[in-house]
Amino acid sequence: MTEDIDGNAVAADIRESLAEGIETLEAEGVTPGLATVLMSDDPASETYVSMKQRDCEEVGINGIHVEIDPDAPAEELYDTIDDLNADPEVHGILVQMPVPDHVDDRQVLRSIDPIKDVDGFHPENVGRLVAGNDRYRPCTPHGVQKLLEAYDIETEGADAVIVGRSNIVGKPLANLLLQKAPDGNATVTVCHSRTDDLEAKCRNADILVAAAGMPEFIDAEMVGEGATVIDVGINRVDADTEKGYELVGDVDYDSAKQQADYITPVPGGVGPMTRAMLLYNTVKAAGLQEDVDVELP
Ligand code: NAD
Repeated sequence: MTEDIDGNAVAADIRESLAEGIETLEAEGVTPGLATVLMSDDPASETYVSMKQRDCEEVGINGIHVEIDPDAPAEELYDTIDDLNADPEVHGILVQMPVPDHVDDRQVLRSIDPIKDVDGFHPENVGRLVAGNDRYRPCTPHGVQKLLEAYDIETEGADAVIVGRSNIVGKPLANLLLQKAPDGNATVTVCHSRTDDLEAKCRNADILVAAAGMPEFIDAEMVGEGATVIDVGINRVDADTEKGYELVGDVDYDSAKQQADYITPVPGGVGPMTRAMLLYNTVKAAGLQEDVDVELP
């Protein structure tokens, strides 16, 4: 019998625990603050940012939102980041990616004060993660770890296969699962668009993570019996709906389910966890910057 991994439920538990951390901070006169910066008129980016702001409001984080005209010079974004770095009410800064082509996204990541880098993408935080001394775990990979933990899915000794080598999902998740730690200790294989015999590699996985941005391309043929399948993909595909599209994952859910013991649905799997882990990092950031001991879930 295959069990669905319920990301909404796990994320709700994490938000509830974070509320206690926020109370601890409030008792010390600190309200955690998260600044989101949007320099795009892409509807998906607008939706992501507004969801993040709504999440902040729900748990008692002070959400600050800055919008920059996508045609404005890059300096306007860098100046905004400088201002937010200096603002004591802001503990976390998130610049919604992608930024316009005339903005150097690597400079954006470097400009954010590492202690406020709640996405965990500043080179200092990436280096710390690789070295096993992480400060902020990137939200999506951290969310995947929390899902596995919530369902008692052992990573220790497991063959974990990750399809996708991006800097925001594949690579950091590979590093986290590789760490010498109870929520790591996996044997990790990272696959990508040039991987030979992807099917066989995927079929060998105890834990198969799909993060390639390819709609429903992982099916039962690529899933070993009894595997755990984590679908990170969020893809818009044309559909006869009011909006003209629907969201699907990288996994063909109905097919993969025939083989898997555990599987995440899309929506309702990894997506809510990414949002919850951003709140987690913001609460952690406030604790670190204000020198308040906050218990984290
Ligand atoms: P990306 O485009 O940066 O990277 C995709 C990776 O997949 C690349 O490394 C590429 O080599 C690999 N890939 C592409 N086609 C492949 C193929 N046919 N076979 C094997 N590997 C292949 O994507 P990303 O930013 O890492 O995002 C991946 C997916 O996850 C997207 O659908 C994105 O929308 C989604 N995503 C979801 C969340 C969430 O919260 N659930 C967060 C981030 C990204």
